[in-house]
Amino acid sequence: MALKQDDKIITFENYYDVMLAHIVRTKLEDNGIPCFIADENTLTANPLYNQAVGGIKLKIFERDLERCRAILAAEGDMHELDHVELDEETNDVVICPFCASTNVGPTDRSKFESVITSILPFINSKAWHCFNCQQDFE
Ligand SMILES: [Zn+2]
Repeated sequence: MALKQDDKIITFENYYDVMLAHIVRTKLEDNGIPCFIADENTLTANPLYNQAVGGIKLKIFERDLERCRAILAAEGDMHELDHVELDEETNDVVICPFCASTNVGPTDRSKFESVITSILPFINSKAWHCFNCQQDFE
């Protein structure tokens, strides 16, 4: 006998940001909706694998889909928090190599040095700052 449709587990949304996935999961759980995050172990073990698996998947029961959407709609657009920086050269998502956060941005220094490097291209600087763990990296 096939599974009832009520028991079907689906991917609700994908996130690049581990923290956002947890925030959304917590909101759903607070509303009594069972859900879980897939692929997180892979991510924390190897941050660079993040893109390969397409981010973090938040899994829910299909029967809860409409409720999940309603809950998140009431929260505003959470995906605005799921901003990612794209590397201009490779078009890849920039991920902190220290903590796997996508909460990164160009350093002020790199904006300044991008002017310098256009004149002196051999100067290479750490171009990204992680707002999660406060590390700079290239
Ligand atoms: Zn970090």
